[in-house]
Amino acid sequence: MAAPTFPSEMLGGCRCSRIRYRVTGTPKFVFACHCTDCQHFTSSAFSLGMPVDDKQFALTAGVPHEWTRTAESGKQSTRYTCPGCACWTHTRTESQPDITVVRPMTLDEHAWVRPLAQIFTKSALSWALMPLHFTFTEEFDDPETLAKAFALGGIGPKAT
Ligand SMILES: [Zn+2]
Ligand SMILES: [Zn+2]
Repeated sequence: MAAPTFPSEMLGGCRCSRIRYRVTGTPKFVFACHCTDCQHFTSSAFSLGMPVDDKQFALTAGVPHEWTRTAESGKQSTRYTCPGCACWTHTRTESQPDITVVRPMTLDEHAWVRPLAQIFTKSALSWALMPLHFTFTEEFDDPETLAKAFALGGIGPKAT
């Protein structure tokens, strides 16, 4: 399997383009979250997240609305949405203060997006469970292990 090749930067934003952002370099990995909060917020079975270091993420347009609440982990989690179109673009959590979790389907180029891991499967809808090697009942055991597995390749804009 070829190592994923990420472009030096990836651009994204909300549906109305009031919020625009740039991701520099390679993301840590992509995951699906089956927690009840993500299910409610998206009115769907799960959300997709792509953690990057804070310094890899920059807003280039707009000021997002912040929705803060206590996540299932017990830590505060803030979801950022567009004040114009309500699109959810990224999240920050108290448990990982140096990380921004980008919603990867808001990237301009997102056809490559595929989760490496899934979390909070304790609340997953049975039909939405994916046959992924990295499956956690609640939070990640060790995000560094996932980042290492992701770096080995298989998921990325130029990977197959
Ligand atoms: Zn918008
Ligand atoms: Zn969640």
